Amino acid sequence: MMLGSDVSGLATDPATAAAQGLSIVVPVYNEAAGLTHFHERLGVLAQTLKQRHGLACEVVYVDDGSADGTLAIARALPATSSLDVQVVSLSRNFGKEAALMAGLDHASRGAVMFMDGDGQHPPELVEQLVRHWIVEGYDVVYTAKAHRDNESFLRRQAVRGFYALINWGARQKIPEDAGDFRLLSPRAAAALRLLPERNRFFKGLATWIGFRQLRVDYEPAARAHGVTSFNPRQLIGLSIEGLTSFSVAPLRFASMFGLLLALGAFLFGLNILWETWMEGKSVPGYPSLMVGLMTIGGVQLLMIGIMGEYIGKILSELKARPIYFVAEHSVKRSTTDAAVSVGDRTAAE
Ligand code: UDP
Ligand code: MG
Repeated sequence: MMLGSDVSGLATDPATAAAQGLSIVVPVYNEAAGLTHFHERLGVLAQTLKQRHGLACEVVYVDDGSADGTLAIARALPATSSLDVQVVSLSRNFGKEAALMAGLDHASRGAVMFMDGDGQHPPELVEQLVRHWIVEGYDVVYTAKAHRDNESFLRRQAVRGFYALINWGARQKIPEDAGDFRLLSPRAAAALRLLPERNRFFKGLATWIGFRQLRVDYEPAARAHGVTSFNPRQLIGLSIEGLTSFSVAPLRFASMFGLLLALGAFLFGLNILWETWMEGKSVPGYPSLMVGLMTIGGVQLLMIGIMGEYIGKILSELKARPIYFVAEHSVKRSTTDAAVSVGDRTAAE
């Protein structure tokens, strides 16, 4: 019995890489205002990729239960001679991580690229990422924010703290500032599909799988329209999600903190005994007693909360619910030979 997974069969050399093509996965949630323009930019990109690398592209739009006209617009987007279009519509808003997973599951080409549909991830940069894969043979080409100058001091510290905690004692460190904008070679995409967990922290998983990884710094563009769908509360939620599904650091931290407190209490106890027996002092220490009680009470509640997070995670993994439901799926292929490959895929499934 093999307990690991062998994806070496999917290793690509420059010649075969281009032939397998590239799927670009774009999660969209209420992006109606900018989607048509985004699609035009992708069309130009696909043309360039075809000319320079002979790479056939498809885009997989995952409509994450948008409340505006995003789905109708996505359905009407045309395929071109160098770009096929898939539209996967989820039954409700499942969140970006689930939408990315749905896109990965429906991607029918070899390599997979993830990018946002709001124009913050410039399509123009994709050509560079593709080159790192096809020409230099990297498996995971991820992008990272070149700097965080436009963010508040508090937020930067919070981000630093988060990565320090999640990477504490980890063998494979998750790079700070890395985003979801990344390219996976066919074997890396296959590896990502093989991971069974339901609580998915995409950035972490894409790092965890290993292979040859490369960091590319870039400056995210301003959002083309609208506002971010992640408010501070949701970001904190995502951080807790990432932490608890990726590292046991908070639990270890809890045990160490408990140990420290216990040690302090022991020393304090020794001190009291010393004072009573040796110095004959017996102080009615009401305030120190209260402070001690409250500290221990608070710390215990905090630790129980941390444990609760992990137990909740176990519960949701145990229930094993599907990560998303696809309500509608449409495929537009431009060439006949590509249409055949869809048939093959269905037959193989
Ligand atoms: N998104 C999604 N589902 C959600 C929230 C966002 O599919 O529940 C998509 C959104 O349409 C965009 C990408 O995820 O393409 C990033 O979202 P956003 O720009 O709001 O986040 P930020 O860039 O601020 O991290
Ligand atoms: Mg954005």
